[in-house]
Formats: sequence, structure tokens, C-alpha cells
Amino acid sequence: MQINQKQEHTRSWYAATVKETADYPVLEGEVLADVCVVGAGFTGVATALTLAEKGYSVVIVEANRVGWGASGRNGGQLINGISGLAKVRRKHGDGIADILWEMKWRGNDIVHDRVRKYGIDCDLKNGFVLTALKPRQLTWLDEEYEDLDKHDFPHPYERWDRQQTRDKLGSDAYVGGLVNYRDGHLHPLNLCIGEARAACALGTRIFEQSPVTGIEHGSRPKVLTARGHVVADTVVLAGNAYHLLEPKHLSNLVFPAGSYMIATEPLSDEKVQEINPLDLAVCDSNVIVDYHRLSSDKRMLYGGRCNYSGREPASIKASILPRMQKIYPQLKDIRIDFEWGGKIGIVPNRIPMLGRINNNVYYCQGYSGHGINATHVMGEITADAISGSMEKFDLFAGMNHLRIPGSQWVGNQIIALGMLYFRLKDLL
Ligand SMILES: Cc1cc2nc3c(=O)[nH]c(=O)nc-3n(C[C@H](O)[C@H](O)[C@H](O)COP(=O)(O)OP(=O)(O)OC[C@H]3O[C@@H](n4cnc5c(N)ncnc54)[C@H](O)[C@@H]3O)c2cc1C
Repeated sequence: MQINQKQEHTRSWYAATVKETADYPVLEGEVLADVCVVGAGFTGVATALTLAEKGYSVVIVEANRVGWGASGRNGGQLINGISGLAKVRRKHGDGIADILWEMKWRGNDIVHDRVRKYGIDCDLKNGFVLTALKPRQLTWLDEEYEDLDKHDFPHPYERWDRQQTRDKLGSDAYVGGLVNYRDGHLHPLNLCIGEARAACALGTRIFEQSPVTGIEHGSRPKVLTARGHVVADTVVLAGNAYHLLEPKHLSNLVFPAGSYMIATEPLSDEKVQEINPLDLAVCDSNVIVDYHRLSSDKRMLYGGRCNYSGREPASIKASILPRMQKIYPQLKDIRIDFEWGGKIGIVPNRIPMLGRINNNVYYCQGYSGHGINATHVMGEITADAISGSMEKFDLFAGMNHLRIPGSQWVGNQIIALGMLYFRLKDLL
């Protein structure tokens, strides 16, 4: 795995269409802060912004660029849910059901509020459809629909049969869909850079190209980089699948898996009307999901195929294109302009991993593929914990996580084997 290489953004459609450029300095000498956040993806930036809004002095130290990791490369699907919530409910009891329901949607609220409040231009659109590829998956859509009914969901939602799904998505592959207009899609790199800019306007200082090499623990921990250090009351580790810090406490708990995307050339109006006239985010119901949507310039952004073993595909395009063409044979002659990948952090029990080392070094990581929603919720929960409200943080910090013995490579192979079972199940 390549880490801490002081890299520029990967050559994605997102990097090619960035709205606000950001160029923060390298960390040099000693810097003091209330809180030092390591990593400037959504987890780090959302935590920092919540803390800055509460009046804390915050420093973010990023190895590469703001949004360089999964946060600036993802499908841009803003979808409700945090993986593993059913297990959290089993452990803590039905008494927390309402808190978990609120949490499931909370990230959407945070994103909408911030986009509005800070004027972030990230093409935020409402509308997401969860599709079924097989009749047995329709039961899940029905259950979700009943759940929305039960909670008097305040935003529009509809259950589509096969014909309606075909009419709205122009594909014979789907047998049904559940659409809601609170989820949606956005340009994730522009959101991340915009939130970082908002945090800076509230006094946060950001350092890029400054990989953190270690932490000296104590009553005021010291966060070390090659040319400087930050001394803070509290540290938040937000490097997710890309960091290897604090191995004694955190090694072999979160496993990096590759996820990949392609972007086509801009589609004609006719094609857009045929395959996604409502401009929805689309994701299937498999365990290893495929997802797609249109970009603001009407390209098809198609992603899927996780690689759990840690091996990169020889060609991302060769790996993803056949999947897109299976759903949309009508796109077979379309040119592919961009291909890229990134790392998601898989946790064996799929519950986000929150906790503390020596009481003042927090970590917040491992969303197992979920992300835009989950990172914003967990960032808020972590910021609340730092400011003294531990209840929600403790719901997650109290969960047991499996530490797979041996090297990280061995762990990845075990995860890959486990996921093979789900891949076969998806195929049946
Ligand atoms: C291709 C792809 C598609 C996806 N699609 C979706 C989607 O459509 N919807 C969705 O909700 N989720 C999606 N996800 C998941 C989602 O993007 C992630 O869960 C989320 O972005 C994780 O955010 P993060 O801030 O925790 O980690 P990251 O965004 O990976 O950020 C971690 C940051 O920490 C930095 N870092 C690491 N080590 C150090 C160090 N030692 N010192 C300083 N900095 C360090 C890295 O450089 C990086 O910038 C997708 C992921 C991928 C890869």
C-alpha cells in the first residue's frame, strides 16, 4: 500500500473539475492547538469543522492534499445509513432505536446545512434509488419502504416495480427500486475542499504535504512530522484506510480494500433522457455494490468491484467497463475519459471503529464502504465527545472489534475469502 508519499490528487474526473483550489503550507516548527486532527478526508475535516464551530482552535495535518484519499475520489452518492447499526442495537438494546434512526440520516442533514451555510459549490442533488437485481432483493426494498412509512419520513419516497424502474433508469437489469429524495449525490472533492475552507474561516489551520510519522503521548500529545510538530490537548486520528499510526493499538483492525470508478465522455441529451432523466444516484442491493450517477456535465460515473485482497487490477477500465455495459448495453460505444480508484477501510464486523488511546488520542475510522453520511455523523460524534458529550461516542467505542493476527497482508486475504462468500451469494 502506498502511504504518506506527499502525492497530488489522483487523475479523477473530480480532480479535473475542482472549483476551489487550495494550497496549504507544509508544517514547520512548533504549532500549538486545542485539537490536532490527522488526515483531511471527510472524517478529519468534518470533525475539525464541528470543533471550530464550537470555538476550539484546531490544526489539521494532512500527508497529501485535502480530500486526497477516498473522500475526494468516491462515487459521490450521499446515501443514508451507517454499516453495522443493527449490531450496535443488539448490544445496547431497543431503547436506542430512535437514536440510531436519527443517526442513519444525520449525515445528510449536516451536509445539506453546510453546503447552504458556507456556500459550497458541489453540485448537491436530491434523489437516490436503491435497485433490486433479483426478486429476493425486493423484500429488502419493501422492508425499507415500511421503515420509512413507520417513521413518517418527511421527504418524498416511492417504491417502483420492474416497469417503472425500467422507464426511469433505461435498463432491463433491475427488477424494482426504492427511491427517496433525501439521499442524493454530489461532487465529493469540492465538498471536502469547501468544508476545509469553512473550517479555516473559523480559525482552523491546515497543513498539507506533511505526513505524520508518530505521536508522543502525554498530557499534551505531540504529533510529529518530518519538519515540525503540533502540541495539542487532544488528537484525532482520521487517516482511515491510509494510515498506519499507533500500530500497538490499531494494527490489523481496519483493512484497506480497493474500489474503482470510470467516467465516460459527456452523454448526449437523448442518452441522458433514456438512462437517468431524473438525475438520480443509483446503487444496487448486492453486498458488493455497483453504483452510478450522472456528473454535472452528464458523464456516466460508474463504480464498483471492491478488491479486498490488496491487489490492484491491471486495468481499472477493463475491470469496470463490462459491468457498466451489462447494465447499459446502449453505452457500448461510449468513450471512457477517466478511470481511478481509492481505498475504503473494511472492519470485519462492519461497525465504524471509534475509541481513545490514553484518553486524549481519539480515532474514528472503518466505514466499510459507507462514507459520506457516516463520516459526517462520526465526525460530529467525535467532536461532541471531545467537548464532553460522550453518550453517542460510547455506543460505538463499546463495541468489540476482531483483531486478525499476523500481518496486514494475511488479514486482507482472510477478508477477501470472507467476501468471496458474499460475492457468490450476490451471484446466486
Ligand atoms: C472509489 C470509491 C468510491 C466510493 N463511493 C462512495 C459513495 O458513493 N458514497 C459513500 O458514502 N462512500 C463512498 N466511498 C467510501 C467513502 O469515500 C469513505 O468511507 C470516506 O471518504 C472515508 O473518509 P475518511 O476521511 O475517513 O478517509 P479518507 O478520505 O481516505 O482520508 C484519509 C486521509 O488521511 C490522510 N492520512 C493518512 N495517513 C496520514 C498520516 N500519517 N499523516 C497525515 N495524513 C494522513 C490521507 O492522505 C487521506 O487524505 C467510496 C470509496 C471509494 C474509494
